[in-house]
Amino acid sequence: MTAIRVAIVGLGKIAKDQHIPAIAGTTGIELVAVASRHASIAGTPHFATLEELLATGPAIDAVALCTPPLVRHAQAAAALKAGKHVLLEKPPGATIGELTPLISAARQSGKTLFATWHSRFAPAVEPARAFLAERQIKSVAVEWKEDVKVWHPRQEWIWQPGGFGVFDPGINALSILTRILPRPFFLTQAELSFPGNRGAPIAADLNFSDAAGLPIRAEFDWRQTGPQTWDIKVVTDGGVLTLSSGGSRLDLDGRTLVDEKPAEYRGIYRRFVELIANGVSDVDLSPLVHVADAFMAGRRREVEPFIGE
Ligand code: NAP
Repeated sequence: MTAIRVAIVGLGKIAKDQHIPAIAGTTGIELVAVASRHASIAGTPHFATLEELLATGPAIDAVALCTPPLVRHAQAAAALKAGKHVLLEKPPGATIGELTPLISAARQSGKTLFATWHSRFAPAVEPARAFLAERQIKSVAVEWKEDVKVWHPRQEWIWQPGGFGVFDPGINALSILTRILPRPFFLTQAELSFPGNRGAPIAADLNFSDAAGLPIRAEFDWRQTGPQTWDIKVVTDGGVLTLSSGGSRLDLDGRTLVDEKPAEYRGIYRRFVELIANGVSDVDLSPLVHVADAFMAGRRREVEPFIGE
């Protein structure tokens, strides 16, 4: 099989940190072009926009859209129209509705649409899912607390409506929860804290439940300094399971079961190659639905203005 020729669109932090090395390390796919207004890679054909790349660039089979969610729909639609497979960074869109025509377009053109959830490829996630499938679950507590100044410096888009605010990292926790819990769950209560000078929340307190009344609590906060927390604690009849470090580590009653360096983006590109080979798409919108529900039904309160660097 010849390698899938992929172009990266939006050469920002995640494209540089993760997509480039993951593509280089994955059999069956190669980077052949970049479309980004302000950034390029030496030796790789560069175009300012996706439109320019599609019109005048080298032949490509696929695009990896690493731009912010607000601009991704138009790019995905253009790429599918041009007959390309499309990989979407998370969150897959700025709204749920905009995904429907993309799913239809992919189906009609027989191309792959892959809505990635990188945290689901963390090493402790599948072992946690297998453990929980066999247990009675009593409660779930999520703490996703990080310092926005460290992880998102100068990212103005993230503070705009449609930029998700603290749900940009928080949706990673929801992508893990929707994978590891055996039953669907739904939002029952939410409080979102918006800095007076920003269009997106800096913190969110969420409560969910499921058909069996399971209590699920999630706290997302971008104001955490010092040690960062990306933990999910699940109390079960077989012990307390703790996923920490964003899904890299798994402990049961304090005994470590998994503690591995994550290679999430290798997993993403292996899956992309596999999906294309099988002629199928993978679009699970459940994490995005929970975020939309929080914006729809959550109480909003104003907190002190956020001053960036
Ligand atoms: P970023 O550093 O801001 O990079 C995004 C790039 O997209 C920019 O460098 C910019 O490149 C391009 N772009 C095109 N239109 C844009 C617009 N209207 N506003 C801003 N940039 C625009 O963001 P990122 O951190 O890489 O995040 C991109 C996506 O990846 C997000 O959905 C995020 O949730 C996801 N993600 C990020 C991380 C992370 O650790 N940062 C981890 C996992 C997933 P040009 O100016 O050159 O066009």
